[in-house]
Amino acid sequence: MTTPFERIALIGIGLIGSSLARVVRRDGLARSIVAAARSRATLDKVVELGLADTVTDDLAEAVRGADLVVIATPLGAYRAVVQALAPALAPGTIVTDVGSVKACAIADVAPHLPAGVHFVPGHPVAGTEHSGPEAGFDTLFRNRWCILTPEPGTDPAAVERVAALWRAAGSTIEIMDARHHDQILAITSHLPHVIAYTIVGTVTDLEQATQREVIKFAASGFRDFTRIAASDPVMWRDVFLNNREAVLAMLQRFTEDLTQLQRAIRWGDGETLERWFMRTRAVRRGIIDAGQA
Ligand code: NAP
Repeated sequence: MTTPFERIALIGIGLIGSSLARVVRRDGLARSIVAAARSRATLDKVVELGLADTVTDDLAEAVRGADLVVIATPLGAYRAVVQALAPALAPGTIVTDVGSVKACAIADVAPHLPAGVHFVPGHPVAGTEHSGPEAGFDTLFRNRWCILTPEPGTDPAAVERVAALWRAAGSTIEIMDARHHDQILAITSHLPHVIAYTIVGTVTDLEQATQREVIKFAASGFRDFTRIAASDPVMWRDVFLNNREAVLAMLQRFTEDLTQLQRAIRWGDGETLERWFMRTRAVRRGIIDAGQA
């Protein structure tokens, strides 16, 4: 059997990049892996963990001779990263990414790529609240969706090669328009993060004695929010800066619903509360039935 890729360059090797490196290593999906990051500490960690054959902080050097380039940095770094590596890309190279917002990824990457380079934007819908190369693991993408958002006219063979990589990682592929992706993710992922960041932030403003009690009795619900609110600050800053419109639209609807619940609580409207909670319980059951719990 031929190896799917000769040389994969991972630009950014944190949670997502290193998890993919582990899959590529495990299944022999490339003859060699190059990992690029900014800091010496990250590159040393990659060497120590044996995640790549070569490490470098020079992005042009990283992509030279690569047939697949995976951008796995926070979204805010994309423009600078692509400008640095683009001159070293050979025609025929496939560039993909893993960013959580897709319209901005296309806007920041596509215009800088030389002719003949294929761009297949991607988003593995999988993650944890941890960061860095030591946080990755090879089963992160198993039984998860990977959404690809190629622009019309993208070479189907390039899309299929990227899809095959994610299928090897255990993911199921969905292809959709970038804007549609950003709207869906605004409700399923970005809004829950705003809510978690808000609740945990509110608690940190409470007086010290109450804070201690909150930590002590966290298991009663607060704990789940703290896990989400511990997610990477830079990555999530970039998600909100780059999916502004869709997140604000969802927040508007959310605040209207919150006001409705607030009203039901204030006026002792148990019927509304119970009806509401029955509807939301059905959503949870649907997620369990879909195997996404
Ligand atoms: P991470 O663990 O913080 O890793 C980020 C990596 O990018 C690090 O290796 C970092 O290197 C490198 N980097 C940052 N700025 C750079 C620059 N200017 N030049 C070169 N390398 C740079 O992040 P992550 O969680 O893997 O997230 C990466 C991407 O995946 C993001 O776009 C995010 O939206 C997406 N994503 C994340 C999740 C999740 O749950 N975490 C899920 C799906 C998709 P240094 O360590 O040297 O700074």
